[in-house]
Amino acid sequence: MKVAIPKERRADERRVAASPETVKKMIGLGLEVTVEAGAGLAASITDSAYSEAGATIAKTAKEALTAAQIVLKVSRPLDKSEGEDEFALLQKGAVLISGFDPFRAGAGLNRAAEAGVTAFAMELMPRITRAQSMDILSSQANLAGYKAVLDGTEVFTRAFPMMMTAAGKISPANVFVMGAGVAGLQAIATARRLGAVVSATDVRPAAKEQVESLGAKFIAVEDEEFKQAETAGGYAKEMSDAYKKKQAALVAETLKKQDMVITTALIPGRPAPKLVTEEMVKSMKTGSVIVDLAGDNGGNCELSEPGTVVQKHGVTILAHRNVPSRLARDASELFARNLFNFLQLMIDKESKSLKLDWEDELIKATCITHGGKIVHEGLKEIAG
Ligand code: NAD
Repeated sequence: MKVAIPKERRADERRVAASPETVKKMIGLGLEVTVEAGAGLAASITDSAYSEAGATIAKTAKEALTAAQIVLKVSRPLDKSEGEDEFALLQKGAVLISGFDPFRAGAGLNRAAEAGVTAFAMELMPRITRAQSMDILSSQANLAGYKAVLDGTEVFTRAFPMMMTAAGKISPANVFVMGAGVAGLQAIATARRLGAVVSATDVRPAAKEQVESLGAKFIAVEDEEFKQAETAGGYAKEMSDAYKKKQAALVAETLKKQDMVITTALIPGRPAPKLVTEEMVKSMKTGSVIVDLAGDNGGNCELSEPGTVVQKHGVTILAHRNVPSRLARDASELFARNLFNFLQLMIDKESKSLKLDWEDELIKATCITHGGKIVHEGLKEIAG
């Protein structure tokens, strides 16, 4: 049974959906793996590394995808409205396992159904212990949190740690992390390792202990609503207007004292909450930096311009898109393992063929199209 790894075609996407390590593992499962030539180059993985691992190298996407029953990708194939129709190359009935950005996929969802592929959106993986090794949101957010700090330090005109030198003392930088999920916690740890004084906020009460365990100060309005503000899935809830107002006042006071602010706040399926207003930016110190990790979801700062770096009121605001792709090698290695771990569930070890267990909660939760239809309840109504 053939597995295809086409080259990613979206702008800013340097990652690849398989590594030499996962190619070897797939071959170990009895699968044949074909990688499109150059698919790993932007992630520093050569064609020869893939062929040494046992993969066949195909010259074109078409050649890679012909007769492939399984297709692994990092991001959703392009549809015609995006300039190129990658779905046209997929075999009807093929299993597509990919990051899909399902809530913003619009026409891409209909196109996947129309192409007759059984598509799995890895973002919909339940956040349960059994699925941790398949969780692309965590593996990628962790790297993004780390990279956000490094990206910020590159444009910051000061150092992070306190330094006692013969020429006098340099005081440590104050870093404030907004949103203490996977990315935020890694940003806290990274900024601490570099010597900054770090504080952080989140609307989930469970975040307090995690922030404090990393040696950072937790800052939030801790009222009754805050105590109830976590969904059963462990995600943030949209907060009431009254809470948002109180929290914004506390945040406004905190922001005035910061040298760097890293925002990571997301609410699944919704635009990123706007946490930093223009007024707040105006109140910040000249030379301070905002790194907005929510750029792909519209940004947490009102003045962020996703995909660019801007200077506003003396503050540099970075809102790079697809931050994990900026660490393409490590991001690909982890993404590839997440995909392999999920794929393994679908392969019958004896017959070495596909066997989808529709009773498995991981298969049920992530499957978005099957048999020519959109099958995910939460996505039917938003399909464009
Ligand atoms: P996310 O990327 O959806 O959001 C990032 C953070 O922003 C979250 O911590 C969220 O609470 C916070 N946020 C949202 N609105 C905010 C606001 N207005 N102000 C401040 N912060 C705000 O989150 P994530 O990193 O994917 O993690 C979500 C949860 O899932 C966490 O509890 C995490 O520990 C948990 N998780 C569980 C598993 C598992 O397998 N059990 C795996 C990974 C993550």
